[in-house]
Amino acid sequence: AAKAAGKSAYRTCTPQLRESAVTRAELIADLRRAVDEDQLLMEFQPIVDLSTGAVRSAEALLRWRHPRLGVLPPARFLPLAEETGLILAIDRWVIHEACRAAAIWRERSPEVTVAVNIAAAHLRRPDLIATVTGAVGAVGLPLRALTLELTESALIEGSEAVLDRLTQLRDLGVGIAIDDFGTGYSSLSYLHRIPATELKIDQSFVARLDADDARAYATVEMVNRLAGAFDLTVVAEGVETGGQHAAVTAIGCVHGQGWRYGRPVALPELLQTLTPVDAAR
Ligand code: C2E
Ligand code: MG
Ligand code: MG
Ligand code: MG
Repeated sequence: AAKAAGKSAYRTCTPQLRESAVTRAELIADLRRAVDEDQLLMEFQPIVDLSTGAVRSAEALLRWRHPRLGVLPPARFLPLAEETGLILAIDRWVIHEACRAAAIWRERSPEVTVAVNIAAAHLRRPDLIATVTGAVGAVGLPLRALTLELTESALIEGSEAVLDRLTQLRDLGVGIAIDDFGTGYSSLSYLHRIPATELKIDQSFVARLDADDARAYATVEMVNRLAGAFDLTVVAEGVETGGQHAAVTAIGCVHGQGWRYGRPVALPELLQTLTPVDAAR
């Protein structure tokens, strides 16, 4: 099944990849080297408190500076990484890099947190807790400074062992966010079982708020209410416009993330954007 998924992901890959003279096998070989040769890089996108505009957190987003193809977005290489198992080494690198960035950022802004995306394959690894506590400990970061973002599908597939590991991490203080909520084949019943602290409303719902779409508004409102009942902090993803900002704020979402508040940027740039975003702008 993993092979099939990888194949279809490749088929749906951007035309540029097929046009470029790089074959799939070459790209896999290149990816194998990418970690060791320092070609991976992280960008950080601010997550703001919608009521004050203050930056509370940042999501770490992976890019690959390919020697010939330039900077590639995760959709271009993560399917290959998952298919080949390279995702485990990449995820580990990401966790360490995010912790290092969080430690630097917190010297200036002591309460900020950093969120990292974790692949389903990594979730299944018994050493996830050791990887996380090791990375956090190496830079003297408290565990509450880190949030793990997991997709619905990864969580639904999750065995009891996976849920146990996540519960342990949450009990240690690590944030657990359900990413892209509403896009998977979600069953409301599974929310009871997930030891989450946050719910990220997928950007596809937020995008439709602009069109004065009553059903989109009702959906976001319902998800926000649901999250409240489960004591989860809501992050509205992909907020691009003033209209979307006004809508998610009126609905009562706690946090916002999107181009309106800031694009993903390198760490030095993130460190410069510390002044609270003017929410009324
Ligand atoms: P995600 O976790 O849902 O990340 C949000 C994506 O939405 C990012 O795309 C971000 O750049 C984009 N985005 C943010 N604000 C806006 C906006 O206002 N408008 C629009 N149109 N897009 C916005 P990106 O960086 O291409 O990442 C795509 C996906 O790749 C992520 O989705 C995540 O699932 C995965 N990913 C990214 N970094 C990592 C990583 O380090 N490890 C793993 N395992 N997966 C990663
Ligand atoms: Mg995410
Ligand atoms: Mg997301
Ligand atoms: Mg998304």
